[in-house]
Amino acid sequence: MIFCVEDEDNIRELIIYSLQATGFEACGLAGGKELFQALENSSPELILLDIMLPDIDGLEILSKLKNNPKTKHIPVILLTAKGAEYDKVKGLDLGADDYITKPFGIMELVARIKAVLRRIGQKEQEHGLSLGNIVLDLEKYEVRSNGEPVILTLKEFELLKKLMSNPECVISRNTLLEEVWGANFYGETRTVDAHIKTLRQKLGQSGNQIETIRGIGYKMSK
Ligand code: CA
Repeated sequence: MIFCVEDEDNIRELIIYSLQATGFEACGLAGGKELFQALENSSPELILLDIMLPDIDGLEILSKLKNNPKTKHIPVILLTAKGAEYDKVKGLDLGADDYITKPFGIMELVARIKAVLRRIGQKEQEHGLSLGNIVLDLEKYEVRSNGEPVILTLKEFELLKKLMSNPECVISRNTLLEEVWGANFYGETRTVDAHIKTLRQKLGQSGNQIETIRGIGYKMSK
């Protein structure tokens, strides 16, 4: 889903129509208020953000997005007015992924969106793991489930990483105990079960991606 925040109805409708015609799911929002409301229930893949907006300035919206752990990972492309150099520089400084100057052609806009999504996808592949609705960032030790940040202990993180690195594979409790807690850990396999239980709870709906294989261990799938 791509969000397009633009107060001018004609431009917004044209962008939404063109994105949908290209195969994207897209949703138009008239301003900052509408955007923040929509973000409470969904996490878009990308936000197209106009700078000249009547209620909250686009740059202020951008700064709010980038300062909120729930939304800072969402890529943003700014729609800037011709000649507004300061806005572009400021926008990139604040963490925008790209900008496009009005008036622009729809082909160019679509190409920019695809380029940003490709770049983000590559970055996630290099630094993380993703399976179904769960994304692990191995550098920052961050986890997102359905786009929402999840706070895990180190052991829970390692356990999830082990399961996600071997999708669709059954991993025994003993293997998990050995690899996550270490061969010298005098624990019982119940330790693994207890951690899986809290892990499932913390992951919310995505917790059911972890399947119990009775008498053996666990398996993770999409
Ligand atoms: Ca505008």
